[in-house]
Amino acid sequence: MYEANIEWALNAYRQSRARLPDAVFPERSEYVSDLSQLANRFDIFLLDAFGVLNIGETAIEGVAERIRQLRALGKKVAVVTNAAGYPASHLHGRYHRLGFSFSEEEVFSSRATLLRGISGMQVSRWGIIAHPKFGFDELPEPFELLTDDPETYERVDAVLMLGASAWNDERQKLLVRSIAANPRPVLVGNPDIVAPYEGGLSREPGYYAHLLADETGCSPLFFGKPFANVFTYAMSVLGGETPPNRILMVGDTLHTDILGGRAVGFKTALVTGYGFFGGADPEPAIRQTGLVPDFIMPRP
Ligand SMILES: [Mg+2]
Repeated sequence: MYEANIEWALNAYRQSRARLPDAVFPERSEYVSDLSQLANRFDIFLLDAFGVLNIGETAIEGVAERIRQLRALGKKVAVVTNAAGYPASHLHGRYHRLGFSFSEEEVFSSRATLLRGISGMQVSRWGIIAHPKFGFDELPEPFELLTDDPETYERVDAVLMLGASAWNDERQKLLVRSIAANPRPVLVGNPDIVAPYEGGLSREPGYYAHLLADETGCSPLFFGKPFANVFTYAMSVLGGETPPNRILMVGDTLHTDILGGRAVGFKTALVTGYGFFGGADPEPAIRQTGLVPDFIMPRP
């Protein structure tokens, strides 16, 4: 990511910091070359997807082989990703195409965390914010897709923010007006504020949710990193007996992977060669945010 984009993203996260969890951090980070140097120190490796496994539709070189090495040593390796815009089958298809072998029990998405979280909720009609091109598998019914018709916003009892690629400032205005006039639960399936892509930064559901909270005073419920719910879900499947300090969260983003991992007591490793930092020096951002990873590595 360009340095100007890093500045912009860090500023956006700073403004929403009060809604993110607290955590305790080490004084400084230990620099290592890659995960093979940490194999003996952890039993479970939780890998972020974008910036660790892949960049878009390209796998990061050597990561599939690294995962095989860790598994050969008896380590558990799983994915913890803030992906909410599309169904699990789409996610699995992508990982498979990229050469990664993860079973359904080894991928923990913010979308699945949200769907588990709402399973007991009594809602007569959901409002969904998502791009229609990914289809509506797995989503609760009945629902309205929230787009340009103001009346649809009035008809729903709760709003699910899953993906922002079809969202825009006009639709956000409709949402703000509707929630301000008639407060209802807002649940967010991807707490990311921004995501890097080839052309710069995309605004993610977290961006719009924080804006909505700032403007209406509502308290959105967030599912996914850095919030504990996705990690609790992962550990319920992977085995709750492992001490937290034998679990390593590996990611490219300070405010999701590093903050979230530390907030539940895991150790954390920041990957700097891809994704958020894309080769830039992370130390100024670490000093500025106080979000200090246990380990820093150029590649996973
Ligand atoms: Mg990432």
